Amino acid sequence: MSETVVAANWKMNKTVSESDYLITEILKNIPPVSSVTCVVFPPFLSIPSASRLIRNTSVKLGAQNMHSAQNGAFTGEVSAAMLQDFCSYVLLGHSERRLLFGETHEFVNEKLSVSIACGLRPIVCVGEQSLDRQNGLTENVIRNQIKSSFRNITDIGNIIVAYEPVWAIGTGTAASPDDAENINKFIRDELGSIFGTEQVSKTPILYGGSVTEDNIADFLGKPNVNGALIGGASLNSEGFTEILRIASDLT
Ligand code: PEP
Repeated sequence: MSETVVAANWKMNKTVSESDYLITEILKNIPPVSSVTCVVFPPFLSIPSASRLIRNTSVKLGAQNMHSAQNGAFTGEVSAAMLQDFCSYVLLGHSERRLLFGETHEFVNEKLSVSIACGLRPIVCVGEQSLDRQNGLTENVIRNQIKSSFRNITDIGNIIVAYEPVWAIGTGTAASPDDAENINKFIRDELGSIFGTEQVSKTPILYGGSVTEDNIADFLGKPNVNGALIGGASLNSEGFTEILRIASDLT
């Protein structure tokens, strides 16, 4: 059985004090015993303080992005080496990075190699846009994202993949659990053709896009949906810890 992962992407929300408050509330209300891996991705500035708060707890910490270079003239960027002291996870290829900041498949691929080399556990996001879906191109788009993002990666290791249809992110319109299952199965098959079926059988493949406490159980009921990447519904502790509770009860 794959690990179940519930990840909170706070995006560009929460000041440092607001992040501290949210983490403290999550820690108060998180199920005390759980086999679910819970990862929070605060904004960069909140990461050092968050790392102190989660020390000796079951909650893991990640960064929403990183640069592939180790250091240098990249104004405004943060390297994997800078994150290593605080984080154990990193989000790569989120659709907002790809669409709003022009991140290419090649760049995501470079970051993926570097994150692995630096011991950060990546969550690689893939997903089609609305027009792709309307034109029946979902599988082509995702195949292309996988092939280019994983180029020259020789071992799937502990990489996590998140299927995030762009049209479902922040819209309140989630994919149906059946659609998520079908695409997640497709992703596992594509990864299997690169790394071998056995190697990817335990790779967590998440679904992301308007997941809430009301629909998480339906997604986790599917065999190839091994967790969720959650934006909006992770910004308040009650909703997010309820999602964690439901996920814990189901695993
Ligand atoms: C996301 O940004 O990764 C996401 C899934 O957002 P939301 O849950 O708000 O749709």
